Amino acid sequence: MYCKNCGKEINDKAVICVNCGVPTGVSVNPSKSSEGLADDVVPGWLIAVCILIPIAGIIIGIIKCSEGSEIVGKKCIKYSVITWLICFAVIFISYSYINI
Ligand SMILES: [Zn+2]
Repeated sequence: MYCKNCGKEINDKAVICVNCGVPTGVSVNPSKSSEGLADDVVPGWLIAVCILIPIAGIIIGIIKCSEGSEIVGKKCIKYSVITWLICFAVIFISYSYINI
């Protein structure tokens, strides 16, 4: 194609003219729909649930510990932390996968 500003021949995929630097009108980011897809795969409420449930588990664990049942309390905290890590890993992988 030819530059609209200076008329020089430039690459069809060029975003700006190499000669004068004027934008050619070629879209730099044609994958705008993929951003919406990312929101669909990992919705905000799921992230909130993934964060809130382990926090609730840790609080229950601490309460159990203070009530004297330390074994139950420590189990609660342990599984809450594991759930938390898995949730974050899943969310992180989902986002990385979509951004490729
Ligand atoms: Zn030009």
